This record gives sequence, structure tokens and C-alpha cells, in this order.
Amino acid sequence: MTFKDLGLNEAALKAVEKKGYTTPTPIQQQAIPAVLNRKDILGCAQTGTGKTAAFALPVLQLLHQADENRRGYKHIRALVLAPTRELALQIAESFTDYGSYTGLKHTEIYGGVPQHSQVIDLRNGTDILIATPGRLLDLINQGYIYLDYLEFFILDEADRMLDMGFIDDIRKIIKMLPDERQTLFFSATFSPQITRLADSLLTNPEKIEITPVSSAAEKIQQFVYMVGRKDKPRLLQHLLKQDLVKRTIVFTRTKHGADRIVQDLKKANLRAGVIHGNKSQEDRQYILNKFKEGRINILVATDIASRGIDIDNISHVINYDVPDVPETYVHRIGRTGRAGEDGVAFSLCDKEERGNLRDIRKIVKADIVVVEGHPYQLKEGPQQQNGNNNRPKNHKKKQSPKKHHNHNRPNAVVPGRENLPPLQQAV
Ligand code: AMP
Repeated sequence: MTFKDLGLNEAALKAVEKKGYTTPTPIQQQAIPAVLNRKDILGCAQTGTGKTAAFALPVLQLLHQADENRRGYKHIRALVLAPTRELALQIAESFTDYGSYTGLKHTEIYGGVPQHSQVIDLRNGTDILIATPGRLLDLINQGYIYLDYLEFFILDEADRMLDMGFIDDIRKIIKMLPDERQTLFFSATFSPQITRLADSLLTNPEKIEITPVSSAAEKIQQFVYMVGRKDKPRLLQHLLKQDLVKRTIVFTRTKHGADRIVQDLKKANLRAGVIHGNKSQEDRQYILNKFKEGRINILVATDIASRGIDIDNISHVINYDVPDVPETYVHRIGRTGRAGEDGVAFSLCDKEERGNLRDIRKIVKADIVVVEGHPYQLKEGPQQQNGNNNRPKNHKKKQSPKKHHNHNRPNAVVPGRENLPPLQQAV
């Protein structure tokens, strides 16, 4: 499936190519043709699924097609409502990228900053308005915004908006919209209140549900190594040198950390490359191609840089740090175990990260097995370390005392695709 198959025009395809996307994500595959067919959308999807392009690309295309003969003042024809300033800015950035060949203009407005420059932007005319609810109402009430020409209304992260207490503002805004419009409604969760809101807004919508990420993690074998922060570099190299660890993504929280890791790995003669937000699109693409072609077998990446990357046959994902947002963990490990293959995830957890691990365990249904007796193990037992007895049921300490005290054995067996259970092999 390509973007062209979805009915996108030249301007959209060029923008997508410039972003380096090759394959549409599941939500894009479903939403783009439906929006182009003038359907309302009821989307159950989280951030990170490619949701923004799923609504921005077809809306831009439809506005662009209608715009070709239009001259003069630009009226607001699409309104995107987002719960926070950060999300509004992120969406605006996406419209800049996806709309770069359309000549359409977009403006973002949000609270917490003076309104002056936003008012000037609005006076100059805009095709697309991206707004948070409070500031939008404020500027409507002051007479700076008219929605009479609106054709598209997009409500993003509806559940978060309700959690943040915006329901009354949203109701007021909805009353001001023309009845004849196309509405795209997105929410990660659907409570009865959200469903009622969606029902009041949508006409015969196309329902799109993207599987919640936590279930994707169930088929992945997950292991955690309790390790001191200072020992993480050595443990990482130890793991990467195992034969079973073939094609691996190493995730880190920071760009700086990613750079340092890749330098160390290269010094150790490992074939590694790095992608993060400070690298140009060209650099990222170059490294990704090397990784896809097998010229390097280790990709070190930050979370943002790795979003939406589509690479198959990843044997292992290694979390160099344990993310503080559990969903990030699930997204990271979801890079392995694709298309029904086995996948393995290792996490390197230091003392400070135990709380993060605990939170992850609450949302991940599969076991995360503590690997004992590896060469860089923290002195204390893992049971005290994470407060969670997650050792596999058949793994009794007394059964293999040697393994548990074998701290200096350099070649402790690493769990991998071919030798998963018995889990004792992990020591
Ligand atoms: P979103 O869910 O809209 O926040 O998108 C998450 C991330 O995925 C963003 O960094 C996008 O740039 C990226 N992305 C969206 N669609 C694709 C795609 N088809 N291929 C690769 N990356 C994508």
C-alpha cells in the first residue's frame, strides 16, 4: 500500500516524500480515502499512530482543490481544535510540512501568551485555524474570528479535552459552526460522555479503531537487567556482542545520550548509527537506509526520531533507559516482533528507574522477566529492587545457585529469538 493508492494528489505526495514516509500507517490507510470521499470520521487512536497526517493530508487536498480558482481574502475553512498549546503547535508544524506545496495558509492560536500577534495573523486571513478552546472562544467573542465559511471541523484528543474541563467551551464552539460541514473526531478512549459528544457532532461516520498499543506488546519477550548507571555502557556492549542480537534498535531518552552511545559502540567496532531530532532529514534517511540494507545492524535512536519508522526484522529492542511514560515503552518495544515474528526487548534499569518499571508493569500484560546473574548486576537482589516478584514460575532460586552468583561470567547467555524459554538461560 502506498500513499498514491489512497487517492492523494501531487502536492500531498510530494510533501509525504519530503518527510521521508514510504508507507501509510494503518490510520492513514483508513482515514485518508474516507475523508477524500467526504465522510465524517470517528477515530479511536492515540498520538504516535500518524493521526495528524491522517486528517491533515486529505483536508489540505480538498481545500487546495477548491482553492485553485479562488483569489482574494482567505476565510477560515478548516478548524482544528486541540486541548493544549503544545499539541496545537505540533499540529501547526505538521500542516506546514504536509501543506508546503498547496499555498494554503494556517494560523495557530492558544492561551497563555498575548493575543496581539495572533489577532494580526487572523486579520491577514487564513484557510486553516488551529486553536485551543479557551483562546478560540475569547477571540470569537471579541469579533476577530468568523466561522461562517467553515467546511471542516477536526476535534483532536477529545478525551483529553473533556479531562481538562473544556466540555462547556466545546459545546459553545459547536453551536457556532455551520451545520453543513465535514467533522473528524479523534479520541484515544471512549467514555459514555465522549460517545454522546461524538454522536452529537457526526453524521454517519466512518469508524476507525487502531488497536491499543498495550496488546501489541503481549507477543514480545521482555527482559529487564538491573544495573548501576555507570555500568550501562558496558552491559549494552555485552548484550550487543551476543550472536542472537542481530538487528537492534537501542532507545535513549536524550539526543546527547544517543550520540555518546554510538561513539562508544563504534570504538568497540560495533556497526552502529544514530538518528535523533538534531540530525537533518537527509542524515536520518541515510542512516535508516544503511540499517535497512544491513550495512549497520545497530540503530541508536531517540523516541521522537524513531516515530513512524517502519523497519521489519528487528530482532531486539534495547531500552538503554526505562522511559517514564509507560506508553513510550510499549511503542519502543513494538518495533520488534512485527508481522507475527518473535521479538525480544531488553531494558537496562538503574536504581532511579525502578518506579518507571513499576508503572510499565501496570500497563503491560506480559511478564517482564528480571535477568539475574549477568556480569554487571547490581549487588542487591532484584526482588528488593523493583518490589515485584516477576520471576517466571519455574524459576526457583535454589534450582540453579551457581548461575545466580556468577557475576563475573562475561558470556552469560542472552535471551534471544532462538533460545527464549527456558527462561533460566537468561542468567
Ligand atoms: P502523530 O501520531 O500524528 O503525532 O505522528 C507521529 C509521528 O509519526 C510523527 O513524527 C510523524 O512525522 C510520523 N509519521 C506520520 N506518518 C508517517 C508515515 N506514514 N511514515 C513514517 N512516519 C510517519
